[in-house]
Amino acid sequence: MAAKDRPFVIALEEHYWDAEVAKTFESAEARKPALRQRLDDLGALRLREMDEAGIDVQVISHGAPSTQRIDAASAVPLARRANDRLHEAVRAHPDRFAGFAALPTADPKAAADELERTVARLGFKGAMVHGPTNGVFFDDKRFWPIFERAQALDVPLYIHPSSPVPAVVEAYYRDYLKEFPQLLTAAWGYTVETATHGIRMILSGAFDKYPRLKIILGHLGESLPFSAWRINMALSRGDKPSTFRDTFNEHFWITTSGNFSTPALMCCIMEMGVDRILFSVDYPFVPNPPGTQWMADLPLGLEDRTKILSGNTKRLLRM
Ligand code: MN
Repeated sequence: MAAKDRPFVIALEEHYWDAEVAKTFESAEARKPALRQRLDDLGALRLREMDEAGIDVQVISHGAPSTQRIDAASAVPLARRANDRLHEAVRAHPDRFAGFAALPTADPKAAADELERTVARLGFKGAMVHGPTNGVFFDDKRFWPIFERAQALDVPLYIHPSSPVPAVVEAYYRDYLKEFPQLLTAAWGYTVETATHGIRMILSGAFDKYPRLKIILGHLGESLPFSAWRINMALSRGDKPSTFRDTFNEHFWITTSGNFSTPALMCCIMEMGVDRILFSVDYPFVPNPPGTQWMADLPLGLEDRTKILSGNTKRLLRM
């Protein structure tokens, strides 16, 4: 619960696993009992660990790869069942939990309909998509009906990492995976994959077609705020300056999930402005207390700290 002497805290890259969805993918995480226990919990344990760290609300989403690697025929009813179950958990604790939908992206029209159903009928705050859908990046035009619907509903789409595509794993990471399996995931593979996803979204022209489309990236923007100037410079052609950096700063919001670096945050604030930055943890892959403690210790005034901890999210998600 919010103490009187601190800002309200909302975290929005906070995961769970739906038992039926989790059966569809392999994950090393499934073999870690303490982690699995937390992924399976949408009740007392999660709430206690939120309380211990001073987190008032979690916007809960499925963990990677969610429903992005399931064929269309299976994914459509499965995402619907999983979203209904998440809705029940949110309804049990409406002052503590909110939801991001899982979308059956293998069937884009059905995914757009499911986004609308979950937002309009279940009160979800948007949706989270985990990496490419069966190998196809989200910027592909087949997915644009989802963008159109997100814009119409005025909800953001959160592009979350998943394991890199097999050709990239082979060329970039295989030599070191035995000793350092995390190289493929949070150490570096996720960052490259998801930053590439963000860049491709901008290059696709989707934001020209959908000028009010809103995208969230985690992990302090997957390194894009650091790189935006250079990308923009390199993409400029002769006397035709690139609009990459402007598009990024207009359409993207970023969260602090799993990246509690003060120098990296300062870079993000300087590049994007403090209004674009949203506190998140990446629970339970990352524990809550280091996140809230980091925020408390930041060399920021109360006004900016409050924006990051909940003010920006309240505005973006209309909470
Ligand atoms: Mn995450």
